[in-house]
Amino acid sequence: MKTLPLFPVTSVGSWPRPVAVCDAQRQFRRGRLGRNEFDEAADAAVIDLLRLQHDIGCDLVTDGELRRDNFYSFVADKVEGVQLMTLADMLDVVEDKAGFERLLQTLDVPAYSISSPICVGRIARREPLALHDLRFVKRHTDRPVKVTLPGPYLLTRAMFVPELTASSYPSKEDLAEDVVALLRAELDDLRNEGVDFVQLDEPVLSELAFAPGRTRTFMCAALAARKDPAEELDLAVALINRVVDGFDRLRLGLHVCRGNWSRDESTLLSGSYRPLAGYLTRLNVSQLVLEYATDRAGDLLPFDEKEVGLGVVNPRTDTIESPESIVSAVEDALAIYPASRIFLNPDCGFGTFSSRPVNTAATAASKLRAIVAAAGTLRTRYC
Ligand SMILES: [Zn+2]
Repeated sequence: MKTLPLFPVTSVGSWPRPVAVCDAQRQFRRGRLGRNEFDEAADAAVIDLLRLQHDIGCDLVTDGELRRDNFYSFVADKVEGVQLMTLADMLDVVEDKAGFERLLQTLDVPAYSISSPICVGRIARREPLALHDLRFVKRHTDRPVKVTLPGPYLLTRAMFVPELTASSYPSKEDLAEDVVALLRAELDDLRNEGVDFVQLDEPVLSELAFAPGRTRTFMCAALAARKDPAEELDLAVALINRVVDGFDRLRLGLHVCRGNWSRDESTLLSGSYRPLAGYLTRLNVSQLVLEYATDRAGDLLPFDEKEVGLGVVNPRTDTIESPESIVSAVEDALAIYPASRIFLNPDCGFGTFSSRPVNTAATAASKLRAIVAAAGTLRTRYC
């Protein structure tokens, strides 16, 4: 594992896809473009993004998830038994059509442009989820690399649609067994390839904590959660801990946020991490990558001995946070966390969905520059 400076600067995951990549992706999905041509477009964009992160001064770089349609749907391309369906396709399948449609409207999610990976058969890795992407990034950077993966709870909930999945997996717990095995195989590959940081994304945890009455989200279109959110959270913790079991020497993080699919903040969830704290503390990961730039995240909490990936800029706004305001937020955090356990990042990705990024690449770059400037000031004060 490569060494990182104090207050390492990184991003959470997605970056707005360049038009050429979006076009190539659309053509590839329609069968009008081969895999090699799509890869060429994506490769060029990843190289540009790595160069940008180098220029800005990011310490832990990512590929911006540029090859992915969104942060979890891409598994459909890599895993047998999984089919990509748009939310509009899902409408045909789910029992409560009116309720699902209402939910999509309330959440401000376009049904035709967002896809979900749905389990329609026994699952098995056709190809690794992120190993090839990591290899490509490592050929083009000498900086430490972060790879993001959907967490086991998110994947299980997103993929299990009783109407389509039950003939292969009678329950979501049955499906979860194979999801855990799939992610463990991936972690093993990434570790052997020398990845520096793997972040598991579990945005659905916040829904359990902050909207317990709502049993469906667009990420879990057709799955009614158990009535008791505590039981679901226990299941999520158990699945995550099984995925990471034995990977003690790998730096692992877990990202939780309150939604990042719309710039309309009123459609996103709100609430402090307090109801989740007990669960997050039990996770055997070294870092929690958390939103704190938005007021919706409440006050900063300690989570045992874990590192915090401190969200210091809001990915959904046009205003660029000043380095001074970021320094001030980090100095507040120093009351709870030692400097050695604070990473600096935006609250979430800038791209989320390829067809609907929450910001422009130019604004995203300016926000990262502000974080790097703040890290420079902090290092002079606390090194
Ligand atoms: Zn997020």
